[in-house]
Amino acid sequence: MKHYEYFNTLLPELTANREGPIASSITPSAAFGYASAQEAEAIFAGEAAKPVYARMGNPTGGKLENALAGMEGGAGAVVTSSGMGAIAMVLTAFLQSGDKVLCAGGFFGGTYAMMRETMPRFGIEPLFCDVDDFDYMEKALESGVKMVLVESVGNPNMRLPDLRRIALLCDRYRALFVVDNTLTPLIVQPLKMGADIVVYSTTKIISGHSAALGGAAIFRALKGENEKLHDEKFGSLHQILQKGKGALMMVLKKRSMRDFGMSANAFASFLTMLGLETLALRVKRVNESVEKVVSLLHDEGVRVRHPSLADHEHHLRYEALFADGCGPLFTVECQTKERAFAFLNETKLVIQTANIGDNRTLGLHMASTIYRDFDEESQKMMGVTPGLIRFSMGLQTPLVVAEDLVGAWNKSCI
Ligand SMILES: *Cc1c(COP(=O)(O)O)cnc(C)c1O
Repeated sequence: MKHYEYFNTLLPELTANREGPIASSITPSAAFGYASAQEAEAIFAGEAAKPVYARMGNPTGGKLENALAGMEGGAGAVVTSSGMGAIAMVLTAFLQSGDKVLCAGGFFGGTYAMMRETMPRFGIEPLFCDVDDFDYMEKALESGVKMVLVESVGNPNMRLPDLRRIALLCDRYRALFVVDNTLTPLIVQPLKMGADIVVYSTTKIISGHSAALGGAAIFRALKGENEKLHDEKFGSLHQILQKGKGALMMVLKKRSMRDFGMSANAFASFLTMLGLETLALRVKRVNESVEKVVSLLHDEGVRVRHPSLADHEHHLRYEALFADGCGPLFTVECQTKERAFAFLNETKLVIQTANIGDNRTLGLHMASTIYRDFDEESQKMMGVTPGLIRFSMGLQTPLVVAEDLVGAWNKSCI
């Protein structure tokens, strides 16, 4: 577990100051004074590294951006007001009417609705396929898809993508590869596997305490000669790309944040940094606990679905590519809505909520909540059945959580 040792050393360092106040300061100011007319000109030209106006970023968010870029091995990061804000920022920065986006695998409900319903209103066409449908992916890419969007773990269908293979395809066809890594920070490192941009809802396990809504996009360095963004497909970006190393930051900030205002607030960024400090400890704990809980449930006859179990179709991929786990989620198939409701209501530890990645164990019936507005075909693609419950493992003792769930399962049978 070299990863965890590395991140346990790195993250407390990245979030602290060595001199003066150790915790990051919270700078709530919406506006910032410039020392002179000359300085104002330099700040607006991007030549002086000082805050312009809080919609374009504030110093507390800036500290979080540096920490997240350091964590991910990226060239830079932009933090946002929410995870959906981060996704909206990336889409609106790089796409325009007439573009196609390929969405492979399962998706968080908000992202799915955004791609299926909202983006088409602005002339952006989404294409959907399973995470293993490489023939379809290749055909779609050949037809000029500009961006491929994948979640590191299908939620709630629990299917696992082969990120390296998809990244190679994106490079070959010069499409931007965006990975939503909300469920697997530290244990999956998309930029190292060939992704161009990683997005997070930091609301989830990065923060962990259900106290701070937030999101982030972290991007790789530009590649000079071989840069796929120099393709004519991305022509509308070419002028900004000439600005050098910080160009992608400017694409995100100037083309999205400035005009749409999905900006993070200082207090949320501060709270998120508190979570980030202990992220490696919590990620290790949760991923080890999930394997224990699902194995105990499986032994007791609960219909649990997780890639660490031998009966999951991606079990071999899990062992080969997800050595440290695939995040806090597992699902239970109760077959009917009535049984699912009875099961959930019998649990004592589980908090019923739409969130995931909290320090507490959470659960939710999928079809009657997040996926209620989607038609049957969409539900099928997302792996949502009438009796499906999604759980998100917290920090509690795995045995205690498993006993609670087994007890509730047995009671709900009667
Ligand atoms: C929660 C979530 C989002 C949206 O994040 P918010 O912070 O709720 O806006 C996006 N992607 C995934 C995978 C999520 O779990």
